[in-house]
Amino acid sequence: MNLLLLEEDDFVAADRALLRGRRLTHLHEVHRAAVGDQLRVGRLDGLMGRAILLRLEAGEAELTIELDQPPPAKLPLTLLLAVPRPKMLKRILQTVAAMGVEHLVLINSFRVEKSFWQTPFLAPEKIREQLILGLEQSRDTHLPHVTVEKRFKPFVEDRLPQLAAGTTALVAHPGPFPPCPRAIEGRVTLAIGPEGGWIPYEVEMLQAAGLTPVQLGERILRVETAVPALLARLF
Ligand code: SAH
Repeated sequence: MNLLLLEEDDFVAADRALLRGRRLTHLHEVHRAAVGDQLRVGRLDGLMGRAILLRLEAGEAELTIELDQPPPAKLPLTLLLAVPRPKMLKRILQTVAAMGVEHLVLINSFRVEKSFWQTPFLAPEKIREQLILGLEQSRDTHLPHVTVEKRFKPFVEDRLPQLAAGTTALVAHPGPFPPCPRAIEGRVTLAIGPEGGWIPYEVEMLQAAGLTPVQLGERILRVETAVPALLARLF
């Protein structure tokens, strides 16, 4: 945790907050914080700044807060991601938040196992938990906007063309395609497939919605590696 992220409910006054639970445990066990210590803090969806630890007890900590810095700019990116297996989803959500993705669309695809849709990790509060861990890691306060699209065809036919319009719109797909462009200016829409890859029909549908297939070389990367590799290359 490189930023202590405070939520509305933590504040008892404009410049005072109380901590309990996970973040308090972290202060005790990882930071080994002491009264008088200065900590980096941020307000969820707000500014970042400093806190001074006023009181530290086993069950509660009290902080004075001064917030004056804006969080880093988001990547101008809409990332379409075929739902990965639950364990990988948790990690990818953290990566997506840490890297500053603005909008994440989790979509179904033929090679997404049906059972993945039953996982509790897709519940909004579970998604939020992982995103917050990513923001704390990278020092950001703005949650990515996440939408879940359980039906591939209506999303790709009816909504994706507008989302992709006016952006550099790409689908990552290994094969005889142009290499993924580097250091792009402006907004990007990027689709990354499931562990088994997109099926040809899906690539055709994504192309019809305005996305161009691009590849990263002969090596097939795991989704959790493909995400940071593609983002680092594009931005
Ligand atoms: N066997 C699958 C590989 C899936 S890898 C196939 O051949 O399509 C999971 C996803 O990561 C892919 O759908 C793609 O979006 C991305 N990916 C991984 N390696 C890639 C590469 N070398 N080029 C382009 N995309 C890649």
